[in-house]
Amino acid sequence: MPQSLIGIFGGTFNPVHVGHVRAAIEVAEALGLGGVEFVPAARPPHKCGEPMLDFPFREKLCRLAVRGVPGFSVNPMEAGRPGPSYTWDTLEALGRERPDTAFCFILGQADLPQLPTWKNGLALGRLAHLAVHSREGQGLEAFAAFMRAHAPVMEAAPTADPARWKLPQGRNMTFVPITRLDVSASDVRERWRRGRRIHGLVAEAVRHELENHAEALEAVWGRRDPA
Ligand code: ATP
Repeated sequence: MPQSLIGIFGGTFNPVHVGHVRAAIEVAEALGLGGVEFVPAARPPHKCGEPMLDFPFREKLCRLAVRGVPGFSVNPMEAGRPGPSYTWDTLEALGRERPDTAFCFILGQADLPQLPTWKNGLALGRLAHLAVHSREGQGLEAFAAFMRAHAPVMEAAPTADPARWKLPQGRNMTFVPITRLDVSASDVRERWRRGRRIHGLVAEAVRHELENHAEALEAVWGRRDPA
């Protein structure tokens, strides 16, 4: 029997911001997760054109962001795998490494429409529970429309609760409404480039780390306007 359900929160985290941390906390509380592991993508297949901080730095920022949140941690496993960082491969590896643990993959509603383009995206439910949280006002209606369109391929069946669909092997795919925080990493990067303050958009420890590496950041995100 699985001992507890562990959330796996994948993302580019370039950089990690308060929207990420709040989303993970609210999903964990809604679904009673035993913990959440932030899994920074080493080579995200869908964001290859973007100026991205190197993996160790994004990982460090994630560690600073989740520090002090009970049950939260960072799993750098994708750095050890060559080639594009596919979620399918990550969930397969987790299943092999920890066969007694059940996993719940967490993603934002804004990314749900792209799921069919991910490697075995519509089959991820064979490896883990799935939690989809609201983002930028996209809610249950958009989730339900996606599920209706893809249920046959996903082998998903509706339940009396429109936010919960059954997946094969006793798993669930659940929509979780969360507090709306319209923060994005691209907006944080843009503000940083324009020399604006990013206080409140990222954890203070993350902001300090960004400030301490301002020169290295400029080489990746672009030149910073004087404040
Ligand atoms: P970018 O602006 O560079 O595209 P991002 O802010 O969307 O980045 P990602 O690392 O791509 O950050 O996101 C990881 C996951 O977190 C995705 O599932 C995304 O939908 C979700 N997410 C990001 N920001 C928020 C937010 N403000 N509220 C809820 N979910 C979010």
